[in-house]
Parts: sequence; C-alpha cells; structure tokens
Amino acid sequence: MPFQLASVDDRAVLIANDGVYDLERHSDGRFTSDPMQALANHAGLHDVAKGLGSQPDSLLSDVSLGVCVPRPQKVFGIGLNYKSHIEESGMEPPKSPVVFTKFPSCLTGPEGDIVIFGPTTDWEVELVVVIGTRARDIPAADAWGAVAGLTCGQDVSERTTQFAAKPPHFDLAKSFDSYGPIGPAVVSLDSFANSADLALSCDVNGERKQEARTSDLLFDVPALITYLSGICTLQPGDMIFTGTPSGVGATSGTFLKPGDEVVSTIEGIGTMTNRCVER
Ligand code: ZN
Repeated sequence: MPFQLASVDDRAVLIANDGVYDLERHSDGRFTSDPMQALANHAGLHDVAKGLGSQPDSLLSDVSLGVCVPRPQKVFGIGLNYKSHIEESGMEPPKSPVVFTKFPSCLTGPEGDIVIFGPTTDWEVELVVVIGTRARDIPAADAWGAVAGLTCGQDVSERTTQFAAKPPHFDLAKSFDSYGPIGPAVVSLDSFANSADLALSCDVNGERKQEARTSDLLFDVPALITYLSGICTLQPGDMIFTGTPSGVGATSGTFLKPGDEVVSTIEGIGTMTNRCVER
C-alpha cells in the first residue's frame, strides 16, 4: 500500500483520499509524531497506510501542510542536470554531477511564502529524492532501495548573490530563508508506474515557464545516489534536489517579485503553491 507522508502543525500525518491522518494516533504508538522518525522506518508506513480506514482527523482542504522533511542532516542540489537547461545556460554538459548544498534552514512547506531577498530571485522546479536508510557506497542497481520516497521542490535561487563571487556562491544563493519549498508530501515509490519518468512543471502567475520529464535527467536518481553515497554516508531524511529543466527566469531576464505566485507540479506527487512576499 503506497503512503504519502506530510506534516501538519509539526506532526507527521499520512494523506489518503483527501483525508489527513495523524501518524502517531493511527499507528497505535508504533510511530511518534516526528516525520524524521517515520522516514527512518518508512517500510512500516505501508502497513499503517493500509489500515487507515475512512475516518480522517481532518480534510486535506481544511489544513495547512508544513515541511514534510523538517530536519534533514543534508540537502544536496544538483546543477546542470537537464540537457535543455545546460543549453539555455550556455554551458558544456558536466562529466560528473555538479553538486552544491542547500542548507536545511531554507526549507519551507508547499504553501509557504517565498520571502524575496534580492531583485534576481529565480524559480527552479525539481524532483526531490528523500533518502530512507543509512546508505554508503550504494551501487546503482540497489539505489532505489535507499529511497523513502519522492517529493517536489523549488530550488529558489538569487542570481546576483550566486554570481557575486568566482567561483559562484551556489550554496548561499540557494539557501536564503524560505528558498527551499518542498512537498506537498513524501510519496512512496510504489505509488508510481515508473518513478524514473515523471512529468514536472512550473507556472508563475498562471504562465507555464518550465515543463519536462524526469527521464531527461543527465545523471539519473541511481547515478546521483551512487556518486553521493561514495563520498558522504547518507542518512534517512537526507534530500537530493535533482536539478531543473529549461525555462528559468535568468534566461529571459524575468525574476520573482512580491505578489507573484509560483505553482510547481510533479506527476503522482502533487502541487505546491508558493506566494512571493516582501522581505
Ligand atoms: Zn537547481
């Protein structure tokens, strides 16, 4: 039975059929209210999801979802990982993954406001991989086994900050507070017909800006897990923002400003709607 793990008021919840179920209450104490503990024991979430019944604690439409992975140890970002985005950036395809850090303090939820910290704040819709186990030196053939689920993310980036130094400040420019919306939920892999081929898109103020499929990733999910786990021991809740396709604002010189609405969607995962607000 697939699961969708989210959070409401800092408590882990499962989402099923537009209903929200408190995880601690519906697991007879097998799980605590901490989403991080749930991710580390994600195999058991399938059983809880199976027994949820038809009496949710609330309706999805009546709650505000928080950050589904609130305290990851590590959040990796991957640059230049779609051919279309490499072309629009005028760069050469990288020979090994281009990796940077988004500091966990940048995370916000699927309805969180994006606080505009600079005049060249840009959108980047991305598939986000959520690790579900302690993982070291994982071969590509076993890599999906290290994944708890997938979610959607926005790798919001302040381009002036990014290119203020040489080499560029990827880490800082992508780690302003609120520049990492994720959600709406961590969706288990058995939810997808093919977890390696999902449509993703980004609309700003109702205008389609980005549209691609994750099968176009240059370094796919197994390749990224193999590469990163050969360097760092991955931990449950660690995340990989896998890169963005073409259509970012920098290409056309259009950037986010207070009042804008960013809608990010991934097939089988759902939609985030984030409003831009003044600092
Ligand atoms: Zn990115």
